[in-house]
Amino acid sequence: MTRMKDAIDGVSNAIIAQKDFLTKLDREIGDGDRGINMARGFEAVLEKIEAMEDTNNPGPVFQTVGKALMSTVGGAAGPLYATAFLRAGEACDENTSFNVASVEKLLGAAVQGIQERGKAVRGDKTILDVLIPVHEVFVEGLENEKTLFECMGLASRAAKDGIDYTKTIAAKKGRASYVGERSIGHQDPGATSAAIMVRALYDFLRR
Ligand code: ADP
Ligand code: MG
Repeated sequence: MTRMKDAIDGVSNAIIAQKDFLTKLDREIGDGDRGINMARGFEAVLEKIEAMEDTNNPGPVFQTVGKALMSTVGGAAGPLYATAFLRAGEACDENTSFNVASVEKLLGAAVQGIQERGKAVRGDKTILDVLIPVHEVFVEGLENEKTLFECMGLASRAAKDGIDYTKTIAAKKGRASYVGERSIGHQDPGATSAAIMVRALYDFLRR
């Protein structure tokens, strides 16, 4: 049991625990597959990570997560999350350990991957409305010499604010864009799942 494995297990279990809630959110503005898809994906992640011999090295662990999500999660968000983890893995080297600088780099790579693949921008009511502000917390944290723990706390709050922001805007990407203005007032399921992950990491660091 490594700390890296513990963290991924924490994120996976948090998503699986929120399966019904995510499904409910996606039913309101999409097709209702978000919760089931994400839960199935992270069940696969738990299995693949469990099967890894060495989980000390973040790069291969992120790669395993990305591949597991790519092959199990459908919809729009599956390949986007998979890309995010694959890119995070590529941004690591043998000596990567977690600190404000390395997490800023990983998140930057993940956000860039999602943007290249999905062509969404901030304000389109997507995962990015949580992940971009979360990345910004680490950019600012690096400038202001904050600790990883302080940054995760701020990130958790930024993620919550990101979810609230998605309630105020209309979806411009994915299936939710079909309902257009009617999506206003509903929180975005993809952004919510991203916030659940950030929150799970913060909870993990607090333990
Ligand atoms: P689908 O729309 O195919 O049913 P999912 O239910 O898997 O997709 O995922 C929906 C979520 O995916 C949305 O809530 C949104 O956050 C995210 N999403 C959709 N399209 C994009 C995109 N192009 N870029 C970033 N995130 C996106
Ligand atoms: Mg859906």
